[in-house]
Amino acid sequence: LTELEMYTTDVLVIGSGIAGLYTALKISESRDVILLSKTDLTQSNTRYAQGGIAAVTAETDSPELHRQDTLIAGAGICSNEAVEVLVNEGPSCITDLIHYGTKFDEEDGVLALTKEGAHSQRRILHAQGDATGAEIVRALSERALANERITILENHFTLDLVTHQGECIGALVRKPDGQVVYVRANATVLATGGAGQLYRYTTNPEIATGDGMAMAYRAGAYIKDVEFIQFHPTSLCYPGAPRFLISEAVRGEGAVLRNINGERFMEKYHPLKELAPRDVVARAMVSEMESTGSTFVYLDITHESEELIKRRFPNIYKVCLRYGLDMVTDWIPVAPAAHYIMGGIKTDLYGETATRRLFACGEVSCTGVHGANRLASNSLAEALVFGRRISERINELTDIGNDIPAVSFSLMRQQTMKSETVMERKLRMQKLMLTHVGLKRSEKGLTKAVRELERYAKAFRMKMEKPEELEYLNLLTCACLVANAALLREESRGGHYRDDFPKRDELVWRKHIVQSIEDGVL
Ligand code: FAD
Repeated sequence: LTELEMYTTDVLVIGSGIAGLYTALKISESRDVILLSKTDLTQSNTRYAQGGIAAVTAETDSPELHRQDTLIAGAGICSNEAVEVLVNEGPSCITDLIHYGTKFDEEDGVLALTKEGAHSQRRILHAQGDATGAEIVRALSERALANERITILENHFTLDLVTHQGECIGALVRKPDGQVVYVRANATVLATGGAGQLYRYTTNPEIATGDGMAMAYRAGAYIKDVEFIQFHPTSLCYPGAPRFLISEAVRGEGAVLRNINGERFMEKYHPLKELAPRDVVARAMVSEMESTGSTFVYLDITHESEELIKRRFPNIYKVCLRYGLDMVTDWIPVAPAAHYIMGGIKTDLYGETATRRLFACGEVSCTGVHGANRLASNSLAEALVFGRRISERINELTDIGNDIPAVSFSLMRQQTMKSETVMERKLRMQKLMLTHVGLKRSEKGLTKAVRELERYAKAFRMKMEKPEELEYLNLLTCACLVANAALLREESRGGHYRDDFPKRDELVWRKHIVQSIEDGVL
């Protein structure tokens, strides 16, 4: 048992995507902050966000319309209060973001707006065409780096949260040289992003390993709605290319989907055709892929002008061209990939979890905004709105006092695994999740997945030294939570589809599955 060196701060923010950076900036107006990133500031889901951020800025639009669109996409189980907060407070957060230096695209001197799937209005702000997330990260990190009240520690991996008498009092952090330190804080904000790495194919970068959700679960917080996973319909599916996201905005600007025989098919599945909710589009694509014996369908925007394609999608255009695909003249092969987790750590309307002094913000949280399915571009907005609320709540917190015991840490000295072995195990788990806990689920497959995942968890021994080992453990924890919830929910709704229960069941299942380490399934 080693007593650890201690760093002290008012507030510890874990994560440097939009949620971490923005929340840290707001908190720094009154408190000192340590902000951690497990790699560098440029690696986060936020960095890759293309399409944009949803908020009401047009005179022809209204919070009420945004509210309705969000509730319809959420398939009956959004929290009405959380959605009210999102649609009413979103616009002023955009003003804030602009104040922090984000440069959104403009047309004729006003903010340029596009439309995405299941939005009734053009309300999506974007930056540099299709590099919205990168522009937000640029602006917010410049601000945070220049802020004397924020200490940014890159390549600092959070191993676990530290709790004392039911309160979170900071976290154990592995420094780049391998030393483990205790960061003591009056409040801790988890802004660790999503868990796309649960699946073999994902649009998420390597960092999306569900660390925050697993840590919060271990610390006693509640995990809610995790059976709802959004698969993005259109990720690039081409030999040698990564599962690069082809933004929904491409369909918003008129692109259509065709099966490998060249036939448009979405009208068979939904009146909104290519702009139907993502789960509907993704499953329709899988059905077409199955019936035509193909691993992809085509996205076709060749009928639009070269000028529009290159102006609106400069980044996507460039990436496709790198693989010999010219969006102006070629149909682009695409297939669904895991993209976003609707559920996460259950919070109240001020981002606070069931564990006192522990907050969650951004993709790792479950505020209730997304229900069973996220409306496109609502996630960046959610991170801002609830990040600001977290800063307000933290302002009211008293200090933890000085009667905190010294924190020690023991490495689990068990058989060490070679890192390739962790990679192999991770891949096996990702394939299992894709096959049995993916776009189409059934009792048989889910039962098999739950059993296998429990077996993987039992078989795993590690030293808690290497981040990749802990990431795998965190993914396993998240996988068990997702598969468990998916097995329990005997209906289909939003991002959860059961072959054996293909209909929505309003009578029994208009409710949430909440899991906790102490209370099991609530
Ligand atoms: P992230 O941006 O993922 O940041 C997570 C941070 O946590 C990282 O800094 C990471 O280093 C840190 N971290 C994680 N674990 C640890 C640990 N153990 N220790 C220390 N640090 C840790 N949403 C929209 O609204 N509009 C879009 O157009 C859009 N497009 C998208 C396109 C792509 C390709 C992807 C992948 C997502 C997209 N999304 C979009 C979703 C949106 O980008 C994410 O939901 C959002 O950016 C999440 O932000 P976040 O701050 O919660 O997490």
